[in-house]
Amino acid sequence: MRCEAALLAGAILFYGSSCGQDQGKPAGARGPLTLRIMAPSDGYQTVQEVAYLLGRTNPGVQVKVGDMAVEVYSTGGFARDGIPLEMGENTIEVVATDATGQRVIRSVRVIRKEPQPEPPPSVLRVVEPADDIALLPGETLSIRAVGPPGGTGFATCFGGEAKLALTEARNDRGEPTGSYSATVKAPARGSGKAAVVAVSLRRAKNGPTMEAKSKGTVDVWDPLAVQVGECRDDRSGITMGLHSVRLGGPYLARIPRGVRFEIVGRQGGNYRIRLSRSRSGWIPVEDVARLPEGTLVPHNYFTSCEINGDEQHDRVTVPLLEKVVVAVTSESEPLNKLYLDFFNTHDALTWISHKTGARVVGTITGEQMEDDWYRLTVPLKCKQIWGYWLETDGKSLTLVIRRPPALAAEPASPLKGLMFALEAGHGGSSDGAVGHMGTKEKDVNAAAVAALKGVLEGRGATTILVRPGDTNPTLTARVEAANEVNADFYVAVHANAAGNGRGFLKVSGTSTYYRDKHCRLLAQLVYNGLLGLGWNEFGVVGNFAYSPLQNTKMPSMLIEQAFMSNPADEARLLDSTYQQQQAEAVADSLEQFLRRVRE
Ligand SMILES: [Zn+2]
Repeated sequence: MRCEAALLAGAILFYGSSCGQDQGKPAGARGPLTLRIMAPSDGYQTVQEVAYLLGRTNPGVQVKVGDMAVEVYSTGGFARDGIPLEMGENTIEVVATDATGQRVIRSVRVIRKEPQPEPPPSVLRVVEPADDIALLPGETLSIRAVGPPGGTGFATCFGGEAKLALTEARNDRGEPTGSYSATVKAPARGSGKAAVVAVSLRRAKNGPTMEAKSKGTVDVWDPLAVQVGECRDDRSGITMGLHSVRLGGPYLARIPRGVRFEIVGRQGGNYRIRLSRSRSGWIPVEDVARLPEGTLVPHNYFTSCEINGDEQHDRVTVPLLEKVVVAVTSESEPLNKLYLDFFNTHDALTWISHKTGARVVGTITGEQMEDDWYRLTVPLKCKQIWGYWLETDGKSLTLVIRRPPALAAEPASPLKGLMFALEAGHGGSSDGAVGHMGTKEKDVNAAAVAALKGVLEGRGATTILVRPGDTNPTLTARVEAANEVNADFYVAVHANAAGNGRGFLKVSGTSTYYRDKHCRLLAQLVYNGLLGLGWNEFGVVGNFAYSPLQNTKMPSMLIEQAFMSNPADEARLLDSTYQQQQAEAVADSLEQFLRRVRE
């Protein structure tokens, strides 16, 4: 076959089991036909049944990987997923043929091996507690260790006060796994001293005993001692549980300096704080000053609430007796409202005063959710929540609500007169994801934003680039730039990336992201617009904790255009015709959104 094809095509420029060498000019330039296999590397070993091949040649040439013709993108990149492998050595041949009949052939060897079961762990290790923990009596301690399977294990904790048998988990086939665990309640008195958890394991009756200690210590606090903490950070965050905080959040509340709360436990770098009778949260230890013994636990109430407004905003103000944790959340289905949750607070409200300055706030109601958790519900008489935030002068707390912007009358574009804060993700020293053909995410983001700016301004909107040029302002600076000009929208543009463990073309598609419920419709309509450009679905993603989506004072969303890790997506994002189409689709979707929420 090879010879026949060679005769038909004329000259074979190169043949052999070589890869990785780029010959001649870079792909895309006119000149000699180049062909490079970028992955897998020659001699690559795998237990998978298939291989994934990525390569680069001159744009416009025809490429066959094995027996299959593959698409060559405008970057010269090409890929084939799911190339079947025989057990042992496989040779994958790649043939590139240009319009003149010039050919280059390269090949790569891939060795498929039988999967080897992972050897069981030979040493004993305590996985949990990994951090220093402080508990109150009666709270649960989880202990987990890994070691050789089939043993008999014990844990000693609370400085020797409890000795427990460990239970070993079994797999689906009923075999021991070497994963041992136990849970125990903290004893009903303070031990006064933090102690490690010691674990012992014996595999045979008279065999040797393995021993290990936890990295973290466990302390049991005196339940009768009251500890009060004060926030010493200007914008600390309280989380609902302990997890690795991705992108910062989600937070139950953001709190300013001076807010006080009762501390009831600790795990690693976080204090557990009591919010109400049944609710607790976690706050970083470094954001908290522990106050002297005898400091009172804050308790708050307010008797009055005033609803008024200025030129641009409605304002809901309550006096603040003590600085307590206050959380504000939005609800948009079926009706737009804001919840203002005051912790360490009881209902004393007898005076809700509505003044004519308020335009969008409806009738406020209060509800005691628990003994010490009071909620104000603020209904909004507008089709869209346009932004809100809390302000405090130390003596009172104000919920500030942005009113709907005035929209241009038809037939003018409703975009006319609106201000858009546009963020091209990354920039400067932050490249973002880098495509296989070397494309930097920061550059495709900037190109997409430039196109969007052009289209929006063409329809009468004004824009501000919160990441101008090839700079890298902090996320906080980007947020502040948008808040400062009182933008009507914040749109962040990024491009996604995924691992290639399951292929180069497997993960593709577009997605949009929002943080709060009232931004869902916006993200949904822009997503629909992007799908109209022929992308695969990657979804509308809610609760996304990208900090500008949490901290901007206007409706906000993020677009992950497509995947830099997919060579087909990468080529499309670089295409200026596509960039223009995308900008128009986003602008159309924004118009559609504005017509839906027009008052
Ligand atoms: Zn990004």
